[in-house]
Amino acid sequence: VDVKQRKTDIGPPHYKNFLPPVIQKNYGDWKTHEILSPGLMVHIANSGDKIWTVRVASPRLLSTDTLRDIADIAEKYCGGYFRFTTRNNVEFLVSDESKVNPLLDELKAKKYMIGGIGSRVSNIVHTQGWIHCHSAAVDASALVKALMDEFADYFTTKETPNKVRFAVACCTNMCGAVHCSDIAFVGIHRKLPRIDHDNFKNLCELPTTMAACPTAAITPDPAKKSIKINAEKCMYCGNCFSVCPALPIADPENDGVAIVVGGKVGNLRKPPMFSKLAVAYLPNTPPRWPEVIKATRKIFDAYVAGAKKHERVGEWIERIGWEKFFAVTGLPFTFQHIDDWTYAFKTFRTTTQFKW
Ligand code: SF4
Ligand code: SF4
Repeated sequence: VDVKQRKTDIGPPHYKNFLPPVIQKNYGDWKTHEILSPGLMVHIANSGDKIWTVRVASPRLLSTDTLRDIADIAEKYCGGYFRFTTRNNVEFLVSDESKVNPLLDELKAKKYMIGGIGSRVSNIVHTQGWIHCHSAAVDASALVKALMDEFADYFTTKETPNKVRFAVACCTNMCGAVHCSDIAFVGIHRKLPRIDHDNFKNLCELPTTMAACPTAAITPDPAKKSIKINAEKCMYCGNCFSVCPALPIADPENDGVAIVVGGKVGNLRKPPMFSKLAVAYLPNTPPRWPEVIKATRKIFDAYVAGAKKHERVGEWIERIGWEKFFAVTGLPFTFQHIDDWTYAFKTFRTTTQFKW
């Protein structure tokens, strides 16, 4: 073997290698697109070439069998091309118009949920939950299932004033897009980490553990060769547990869900917006989280009834005012909203220019 010729670090392959030939040919030279039905759109290039996108929902954590099935469907109708969107929708990319309807028929027959394009609910981006992550305060996938069952008709058929992006993150480390989604859910712990002093000295590094705390709540406890936590400073984020397994924080009685609203990534009409606190705490009630679903319904229905066409949730709230948001949703305004203890600043009105 010629060692000099041997490539050991090939890095990620170039993304263009994965584009369907029609997209490669017309790269950067597209004229328009049209939404033909809730789960079907067509892009038209200046050359006249077209590519159809068929979108289906996915639960994100997919079995090998489902992935094989998706790949087989893509082989059959799309020359093998499909993609996952950032919110875990599966998009089949069809270059041959005659294959669009047979693809839709097979997806319907196999009970894939088709939709999510345009002004409606998209698939729900979320995080690992109880299956994979050590610091989860809520089970992301199970809560997503409960939410998606509740709002499925707004994915498949019904319209909303603009896109409604849901997101679920199972702790405040927030691997999901909670800060920039229209209606989002974040798992929260509400009790101090429990310090396992015996194991601390064997399992954890003092400097790393102290450095992991964003509020400097952790200080050394030399007598015990362990640490102390200042309860006044701790915000129950669980970051210390991420680096030190001797500081477990999960608590079945007290963990739960906060709801934040009004974030967006897009730059249309208004710059990107951060989500702000709507509900400070709801209990963990698996498998269907009825309290969370009920509160979400209030927010969602008030938005659908009150927003103007094209207004995202955050734009609607800013127009009517946060005071009115709590009035029309019927959600209680609590002391936690005042300093917005989960994330954002300026939850409440902070400017003298505010107008009703
Ligand atoms: Fe783990 Fe928190 Fe990320 Fe969920 S959000 S996957 S609990 S770090
Ligand atoms: Fe610090 Fe967060 Fe650990 Fe509390 S839970 S001690 S704030 S790292």
